[in-house]
Amino acid sequence: MRKSFRKPDGDELLVLDGVDLSLREGEIVGLLGRSGSGKSTLLRLIAGLSVPVAGSIRYLGQPVTGPPPGIAMVFQSFALFPWLTVLQNVQLGLEALALPPGEIRRRALGAIDLIGLDGFESAYPRELSGGMRQRVGFARALVVHPNILLMDEPFSALDVLTAETLRTDFLDLWSEGQLPLKGVILVSHNIEEAVLMCDRILVLGSNPGRILNEIKIELPHPRARLDPHFRDLVESIYVEMTSQRSTGLAGKRSDRLPGSGLGTILPLVSSNLLAGLLEAIAGSPYNGNADLPVIAASLQMEIDELFPVAETLQMLRFVDVAGGDIRITTEGRQFSDAATDERKRLFAQHLLTHVALSAHIRRVLDERPSHRAPWSRFSDELEDHMSPDAAEQTLRAIVDLGRYAEVFAYDDQAHAFSLDNP
Ligand code: ADP
Ligand code: MG
Repeated sequence: MRKSFRKPDGDELLVLDGVDLSLREGEIVGLLGRSGSGKSTLLRLIAGLSVPVAGSIRYLGQPVTGPPPGIAMVFQSFALFPWLTVLQNVQLGLEALALPPGEIRRRALGAIDLIGLDGFESAYPRELSGGMRQRVGFARALVVHPNILLMDEPFSALDVLTAETLRTDFLDLWSEGQLPLKGVILVSHNIEEAVLMCDRILVLGSNPGRILNEIKIELPHPRARLDPHFRDLVESIYVEMTSQRSTGLAGKRSDRLPGSGLGTILPLVSSNLLAGLLEAIAGSPYNGNADLPVIAASLQMEIDELFPVAETLQMLRFVDVAGGDIRITTEGRQFSDAATDERKRLFAQHLLTHVALSAHIRRVLDERPSHRAPWSRFSDELEDHMSPDAAEQTLRAIVDLGRYAEVFAYDDQAHAFSLDNP
């Protein structure tokens, strides 16, 4: 299956290519990939909300041409109507089924009860916590008694504890056969979540999105995150995702490290984290060479949160990432040992040398008599290479990096880059 979008300039943005997958009865299948790898797009295709440009989707042997009644979806953003009560939001799921009013109410109450929302029928979404809101999202999906549930990062907008409670509640209901479901597809960018919940994980690569690998998870439920087998699986998937990234991003030019050209999508990371991770790697007990999952645990971060930080440090040549290891470079150690001013100087130097976009922005500002340039000057340019969302993210990332390095300034109100402070 292939999916592309038409960019505003008329070019094609290829998002998914050669994707082939199936969901069998009784399975939870995970789609694991980085942001932008096309996971949501794939889910929308399966749900019949969008059509592929080549290939097809079949549900129970029939081609999918619109949303099939047996497939329901849960969204990261909950997607509740604020002016409707919990009961009304859940009943909305049944609107298309044209059931008698009594039956609608009975089924909605059943779903509300099942998912642990009993007593909240007449509450409005704003009165609920994030976790309770997502329970409404689940109830609204389950109330139609779907065969297949599609979940698009349903736990990622929740705090850690709430997310874990909801995951285990869902898994309990699933294992006890209480859910009216035959199969589940879970989209996630969180490796641990995928290993915790799925029978099979499909790892997606980016640009264009494609399936890199399929991993069967044969651990019995309930799964324990600290179980050595669990850790091994997380680690091996992690290694696979990082090695794919360091070779994948750099493209065929194996002599070049990732992340230098103007077309490179930059991740958003905080400069505190960049310095923090470097210091952690440089210091004891790692002394310059660390296992990323281990260091993630010691910083109390999810591995996935460290990905973009490690990627940015690698782009700046402050570290090398290979397999699951992260190693500090000579320059990285210099940075880590330096005081604030020297750090800024080193950072600026590496930024301008290794990240083409920063040098480009700086050059444009230097050349203009006003030393100012609007956001749109660069976003238009980036959109020749990437989607508007990716261009926005990339520019926001470079604003953060440029500010930290003091190589240019950005005025949020005027939406303009300038050389005001440096
Ligand atoms: P993920 O869910 O893995 O983060 P998405 O499926 O949301 O990824 O997006 C994959 C790529 O497709 C991104 O580059 C995104 O900007 C682009 N994209 C998604 N939907 C559209 C659309 N409707 N029009 C144009 N580009 C899109
Ligand atoms: Mg998505």
